[in-house]
Amino acid sequence: MNREIRLLDDLTINKIAAGEVVESPHSVVKELVENAIDAASSAIILEIQEGGKKYIRITDNGVGIKEEYVEAAFMRHSTSKIAHIEDLSRVESLGFRGEALASIAAVAQVEMITRPEGQQHGVLIHINGGKVETIKKVGCPVGTTIIVKNLFFNTPARLKFLKSNNGETMKITEIITRLSLSNPSISFKYINNNNIMFTTPGNNMLSQAILSVFNKETFKNLILLEDHQEGMTLHGYIGQPSFVRGNRNLQIVFINGRYVKNKVISRAIEVAYKEKIMINKYPICILNLKIHPSVLDVNVHPAKIEVKFEDEEKVYHFILKAILKALEKQSIVPNMLELA
Ligand code: ADP
Ligand code: MG
Repeated sequence: MNREIRLLDDLTINKIAAGEVVESPHSVVKELVENAIDAASSAIILEIQEGGKKYIRITDNGVGIKEEYVEAAFMRHSTSKIAHIEDLSRVESLGFRGEALASIAAVAQVEMITRPEGQQHGVLIHINGGKVETIKKVGCPVGTTIIVKNLFFNTPARLKFLKSNNGETMKITEIITRLSLSNPSISFKYINNNNIMFTTPGNNMLSQAILSVFNKETFKNLILLEDHQEGMTLHGYIGQPSFVRGNRNLQIVFINGRYVKNKVISRAIEVAYKEKIMINKYPICILNLKIHPSVLDVNVHPAKIEVKFEDEEKVYHFILKAILKALEKQSIVPNMLELA
């Protein structure tokens, strides 16, 4: 049998690769909002329609993209965030792989309008299933708006696997909640099917971000936690043991302001609540651990959310004790006053 071996064309490569980056509307939201955060925006608006399947729009007031780089931004492995392999060890941005825009544009109809400061006009680009259809100068404010329509319109097999509108909306709500709470200095507005779900003030007060994202009832069930020990400080809110959820989605931990997943911290939370809540129930925790970067290893995992501590036991006991102490005090947050 004569089997021909050939190189795949870029369109096909991007469509295949999109399968890894873009799993569903919520991954589109995650990537694009992270781009907006990386662009040093102070205000970000997310609007979705029909679970994000039909329509996702993200508007930011960040640095924008220069005219000459707009097309390049949509190419695979094109990024402004790193240049060399050594840069990976000190990468501060949420993204760096330069894959999101290329992947999303390969499997949707994408429109971007962007303008950096100091450039008179903005640029509008239209990409349909990976093909650039329009690119032209337009008038627009500084920042970037990106619209993603009809996700997976050209990959019917993936389209079939999407959940109901409600199911997809829930996953998007989760991710935008997490991003809003881990960035209290940015104002987030979240609109779903023309309803404003929440707006955070962006004044760097975690309590006010929490109050905006959740209802008052939830906020009333949170306990303020502030503790420190040998170069570590822990600040945030934990739920009353009577106020639990069926999953861990609202266990939001950030280390030095970055959202992370860490087994040591999860275990400390679990053990602290163990005797107080039923099995398969999980408390709400929104905690920010500040720790010296030298005792922390920010592993460059593709998703960039795993970290390791030099002294895991020490961190574990600190967090466990801090939660136990706060629970004991049961000091229900009396008002919205807080330090930062
Ligand atoms: P990455 O974020 O890994 O660099 P992306 O494909 O998500 O890759 O984005 C490619 C590039 O496009 C980014 O490095 C950045 O320079 C630019 N970019 C994307 N979104 C924005 C935005 N909202 N504001 C400014 N620049 C952006
Ligand atoms: Mg990105």
